[in-house]
Amino acid sequence: MSRNKSKLPVGVILLVLSILGAVFVYTSSMFERDVPSIDIANNGYWNLKKPIEISIDDESGLHSYRVSLKSSAGVVSLQHEQFIAPEKMLNLKIKPPRSAYSLKDKTVTLMIEVTDASKWNFLNGNSVTKNFKLHIDKKRPKTSIVSNSYKITKGGSALVIFSVEDENLKELYIESNNNKKFKPQPFYKDGYYISLVAWPITDSSFKATVIAKDYAGNLSKKTIPLYLKQKNYKISNIKLSDRFLKGKIADLAEEFEETQGVEDSIEQFKIINEDVRAKNEELIHKLSSIVLDETIDEFKINKMYPLKNAQVVASFGDHRKYSYKGKRISESYHLGLDFASNAMASIIPQNGGEVVYSDYNGIYGNMPMIHHGLGLYTLYGHCSSTKVDEGEVIDAKHDIANTGKSGYAMGDHLHFGVLVQGIEVRPEEWMDSQWMKLNISDVIKSAKEIINKS
Ligand SMILES: [Zn+2]
Repeated sequence: MSRNKSKLPVGVILLVLSILGAVFVYTSSMFERDVPSIDIANNGYWNLKKPIEISIDDESGLHSYRVSLKSSAGVVSLQHEQFIAPEKMLNLKIKPPRSAYSLKDKTVTLMIEVTDASKWNFLNGNSVTKNFKLHIDKKRPKTSIVSNSYKITKGGSALVIFSVEDENLKELYIESNNNKKFKPQPFYKDGYYISLVAWPITDSSFKATVIAKDYAGNLSKKTIPLYLKQKNYKISNIKLSDRFLKGKIADLAEEFEETQGVEDSIEQFKIINEDVRAKNEELIHKLSSIVLDETIDEFKINKMYPLKNAQVVASFGDHRKYSYKGKRISESYHLGLDFASNAMASIIPQNGGEVVYSDYNGIYGNMPMIHHGLGLYTLYGHCSSTKVDEGEVIDAKHDIANTGKSGYAMGDHLHFGVLVQGIEVRPEEWMDSQWMKLNISDVIKSAKEIINKS
């Protein structure tokens, strides 16, 4: 009796075993039922040159995959593999087919078939097929320079007008030294662009290249043929006087956040001339880096002449080296042109535009700044007061401010700055009607003649 009691009927044992088996199959990763996941690093365009990166992964590992290309010419297998030891994750680089050159289709389909190593599905595993539509674009953007300034002077500006043709244009900019990018604006007719470029005074040479990229990764580069004119700028060795340090610098040190708690005059001067200046210039560069997206038909700019009957009291580009008691303390570049006339004289920019700033800016004092279009900005430093508001659109004859000595200025004067897409340029060029005719109006005129003929 007792022996019979401990024995379970065979049927029950089989039932329990098969339930356990089913539970095992259902919960074991060996029998997982999820299809492999497929990721394609592609934006939907292919130039049939760069490999397409695909990553596949699966919990139970991958058994096999096949990547094929479906076009009007049929289905071609590009790459396939089968694994004895299953791989959990694969990063594939799919090369274009050998027949890529003769492929005429505008769109093709990339077929990715993957099977995992799961024992599910009667040991066949889980399979998935992903179709990915690709626009085929084998052509590089077609770029040509239509018209440009003949030369550029160190510290100066130049204008370029060019055309770019591409059905899938993604990115367009002009690259110059030190990875500086200039943003062109659409010009006049479809496919044409215009941009000012600037050679920063601190760069010994200059090169500007139009770069166009399409969505398929095709790239074209065209260097703007500019004759480079070197220019030597003044170097001034300035001895700091105690009167200056105890006067203006002490006053500014009290005002600026950066010099709070700094007692030493030399240290105060260094902080104002370097740290405060850098901060103030950063704001100026940021404000003047904005270029609009709208198409422009014309760029008419008058000779700049912001202050009547004024005398130049400091030149643009002056490299100022400061010393105290024979020791070099600090240095900076004077990136504007200083004018003086009567105290609190009226400032009239002679060009209309949008006021992008009209407030106090550290060493620049009260400083209105105006955008004249095409990334060309002017600023007016050390004003006693400003008469415009940010966001205001002014005309050419608007009286925007009065000169003064706010900020880092000794006497009443105007610090006049001109900027091209965040780079300070020689104001002298924009005050010279001959330079402006040759470099701005003539370049636009000849571009329009060429565009109208094509
Ligand atoms: Zn100045």
